[in-house]
Amino acid sequence: MTQPPAIPPLLSPIQIGSVGLAIGAAWTLSAAVAAYFGGSGVLLIAIGGTLAVAVTWLLAAVVRQGTARLRPLEKELLALQSQLLTQRAQTAIVVENLGSGVIVLDRRGHVLLANSAAKRLFAIHRQPVGHPLVESIRQPELLQTIGQLFVDRAPREVIVEVRDEHGVRRVLRVLCVAISYDGAAAVLLEARDESENRHLEEMRREFVANVSHELKTPLAAIKGYAETVELAIGDDPQAALHFMTQILEQCRRLERLIADMMTLARAQAGVQYLRPTTVDLTTVIAEAITTYAPIAAAKSIRLEHHSNQDTPVLICADREATLTIANNVIGNAIRYTPEGGHVVASSARDGAFGVLVVRDNGVGIPEQEQTRVFERFYRGDKARQRSNKGTGLGLAIVKNLAQAQGGRIELQSRPKQGSTFKIYLPATVPAK
Ligand code: ADP
Repeated sequence: MTQPPAIPPLLSPIQIGSVGLAIGAAWTLSAAVAAYFGGSGVLLIAIGGTLAVAVTWLLAAVVRQGTARLRPLEKELLALQSQLLTQRAQTAIVVENLGSGVIVLDRRGHVLLANSAAKRLFAIHRQPVGHPLVESIRQPELLQTIGQLFVDRAPREVIVEVRDEHGVRRVLRVLCVAISYDGAAAVLLEARDESENRHLEEMRREFVANVSHELKTPLAAIKGYAETVELAIGDDPQAALHFMTQILEQCRRLERLIADMMTLARAQAGVQYLRPTTVDLTTVIAEAITTYAPIAAAKSIRLEHHSNQDTPVLICADREATLTIANNVIGNAIRYTPEGGHVVASSARDGAFGVLVVRDNGVGIPEQEQTRVFERFYRGDKARQRSNKGTGLGLAIVKNLAQAQGGRIELQSRPKQGSTFKIYLPATVPAK
């Protein structure tokens, strides 16, 4: 902080000496005049007059000097005042733009200050400043806490639920602290939106529950089969062998599940695992088709690749991730298409994107399931009955991988008629 300037003495020793000399000279002169006119009355008047002149001169000098000395102090005060005003304006801007809601209440519970975030979070529509808080916020628990705070001044935290005019529910964590505002007792409320954290927490809980369930099922099967093998191995080696095969099948399922969970985790972690290069979508589709050809043949499904070899569809993507996308979507198309069906994979350029299209004439997906199929572990009813090969993670992986690479996925489907999945990935910028 700037120190106020030291005030110098009003008169310098030279000035005081001069005044003394002047008084002395006036005195001597007055005495001489009085002696010449011969009267003590005249002497007194002369002395009085001289003193009056000297004192007046002295006072004038003091006032003049004082004014001159106070001038820098006045300047300093003006500078301090403008500094304070600037600081006040800056603080107001910071408070106004804070992400969390800030409200200050006076002793009577009237609002002294409320920033924009507070108005948004508490869904306050009219100007609350100058009015009792209770007119803007009707949260009995919060109001009660504020009342107690004025009594014991102990800080508290309250969780309140607010609904805005559209009925959107928000969970707020409000910290209430007793403060002194402009020298008077006041209360500061700081509100933070907890809705997103709560949502993430719910998702995490749901994920853990799903994973445990998905792992428990094959493990329970393995345990059951192993116990049966133990009993059968002496008397019925043939049955024991059958159950051993079942155990192996469940182990493979566990392996698939863990592999899919790791792929999904990497897809959700996004860019850090991806190495984008220029990829020709047609060659990726060709590779996936080669992998799935025997499986399609076993189901008598016609698996085709429609592409124009002369015009490659070049995208900017991670090749492995793109192959995972193609494998999952083509694999699903074969899995959810009955024997004798038809699956076609193709690629095309659409504006700034390269598009991988996989069309089948299989079981299709009911409209109410069309957004849910991209959720982790979601498996359609029919899928659950028909096969135990799926993990319910395939489309979640596809969606996350597409999004992590700046793309998206679209689905059109009609039950019993078939489905078309389109995966858009950013095309490379064409060479000029
Ligand atoms: P899953 O391992 O069950 O196949 P996915 O995430 O790959 O898991 O798919 C989720 C669900 O979407 C499936 O259980 C199935 O009901 C549905 N589905 C996916 N692809 C198709 C398709 N081509 N035709 C019909 N239903 C499909």
